[in-house]
Amino acid sequence: MTSPILPVQNLGRLYDLPRTRLFSGIPPLEAMLNLEKTLNTSANLFIKRDDCTELTFGGNKVRQLEFYLGEAITQQADTILITGAVQSNFVRLAAAGARKLGMDCHIQLEERVKKSNSDYHKSGNVFLDHLLGATMHSYPVGEDEYGADQQLQTIANELRVDGKTPYIIPLSPEHPPLGALGYVVAAQEILEQLDRQQLEIDEIVVASGSGATHSGLLFGLRALGSNIGVTGICVRRAKGDQMSRISDKCREIATMLDIENPVVNSDIVLDDAFLEPGYGQAGKDCVDAIKLCARTEALILDPTYTGKAMAGFIHRAKSLDTSQSLLFIHTGGAPAIFAYMDDLA
Ligand SMILES: *Cc1c(COP(=O)(O)O)cnc(C)c1O
Repeated sequence: MTSPILPVQNLGRLYDLPRTRLFSGIPPLEAMLNLEKTLNTSANLFIKRDDCTELTFGGNKVRQLEFYLGEAITQQADTILITGAVQSNFVRLAAAGARKLGMDCHIQLEERVKKSNSDYHKSGNVFLDHLLGATMHSYPVGEDEYGADQQLQTIANELRVDGKTPYIIPLSPEHPPLGALGYVVAAQEILEQLDRQQLEIDEIVVASGSGATHSGLLFGLRALGSNIGVTGICVRRAKGDQMSRISDKCREIATMLDIENPVVNSDIVLDDAFLEPGYGQAGKDCVDAIKLCARTEALILDPTYTGKAMAGFIHRAKSLDTSQSLLFIHTGGAPAIFAYMDDLA
């Protein structure tokens, strides 16, 4: 059975923590019959449309931001600070959420991806960041989570001198993964939705980047007594590194919720076969997956996250010879395709 076995009380303090709703309704969970047919698989394929989370083109970060911005409100913040890759969806949605709540937003864009064309630096999410009127900062170093956080602190201190009350959404893994709680909530939502739709799912496939989505989802499922498998497709770093990040995050979620960690190491399943050529760069499998899903299901996937995750999902669907049911989480990211037209055309 995939329906929730244990009551929500098993999620500890989840619904007592500060949270602000940024979308209403429940993103659809539906079958992908055309893709199923095209792949000629005996697996049943489903998708959860978390790209339809309403706020400014949607995505998984809307759920994550409900907890960050909820905390920002309790601290009476008036300015949100966030750092991310140039085409970050998180950054775009933080700016959107801030606007919705009547706050300002300072954005720091890191040069993590070796792409020098003008689309990458001007179109897609960057264009939306400007349109949302965010104050932009640049961080020239690529992979430097601690340095990027430190520079946000410097900007925050300057804002305080000007009488502002800044709230920082941190990047480095030493901070509690508040955003993961959005996917503990999502786990409950998905279990209830499967129950209502009388569906049973064997395995969920999701992009694993910072790991907030992956760890929150896995934690929520296990805390509610579900043993649906969760496979994280690595989009940011290789399996070994990602494994310890997910297990650390699960421990930290347990601390935040003040419950025991229900996730054991064997629950953490990762596949890094689709990571190449690296973060923010689309390989052939990724581009093929993006085109296939557009042409079979009219789904728009992105080159950094969902295209790679879908390549992993397709691989999984093809390798199953039984009629198992697989669920893909569409985590959003569509605006970024306009920054990658050179790879996708
Ligand atoms: C950030 C992001 C992810 C990865 O989510 P994490 O919680 O960082 O692992 C996946 N898909 C899209 C579209 C994203 O923007």
